[in-house]
Amino acid sequence: MAELTSLNLISKAADMIAAAGLTVVSTGAGMSRESGVRTFRGEDGLWREYKAEDLASREGIRKNPELVWEWYRERLKACEELEPHAGYHALARIQNEQDTLPVITQNIDGLLQKAGIRDVIELHGNLRTASCMNECGAPNVRMTEDLFKDLPPRCTCGSILRPDVVLFGEQLPQQALKRAFRLADSCDLMLVIGTSMVVYPASSLPLIAMRQGAQVIEINPEETPLSSLDGTLNLRGTAGTVLPEIVKAVFG
Ligand SMILES: [Zn+2]
Repeated sequence: MAELTSLNLISKAADMIAAAGLTVVSTGAGMSRESGVRTFRGEDGLWREYKAEDLASREGIRKNPELVWEWYRERLKACEELEPHAGYHALARIQNEQDTLPVITQNIDGLLQKAGIRDVIELHGNLRTASCMNECGAPNVRMTEDLFKDLPPRCTCGSILRPDVVLFGEQLPQQALKRAFRLADSCDLMLVIGTSMVVYPASSLPLIAMRQGAQVIEINPEETPLSSLDGTLNLRGTAGTVLPEIVKAVFG
């Protein structure tokens, strides 16, 4: 019986995707974790004795630039070695069938892009580039192995570089934020995937979408504050198992 219920939910989600004009996706840490991205708490060895705030902050970079950059080098390397799971490829399929699929994400690992997702709105920045701590205006630099030859890496102006991720105490990138809100306010359907729904502004996006009449599907193995809201279609499961089933039901 449980099996039947879950099949019904899958086919309902498939119908919603097939009927929607603009579908927008919002992904959180759960989506990445399924591909093996570790959260800070889950990191081992050397980093265990540090607080995230001591490493991922402007003050941390100024105080201990070599250490912080060594940490980012490891994070980047770890992310580069990972592969997007089946859920990412399912999203890429929706994008390719429907021509457009904006994906708003709190993740910085680049897995969406690796799976071929073209329109990614990164609320917490990314690990691809670095820029000048002094904001001298020099163009952003790609984070490749070359950059890590001499730590800490420096800007052409001599100042230390910082990764283009949102650091503790910093505001979210305004352009990305504005676009995320605009999309929430104009979509027909929002898929909320692997988001804990406790961190602003990601937590407010599905509420904005609902308020203007959009439908919301939550895909998460765990319940969140969104699950109990009227109008949310809840699919309890991991993105890697649920999304491919939905996509198969929509496009065959
Ligand atoms: Zn500079």
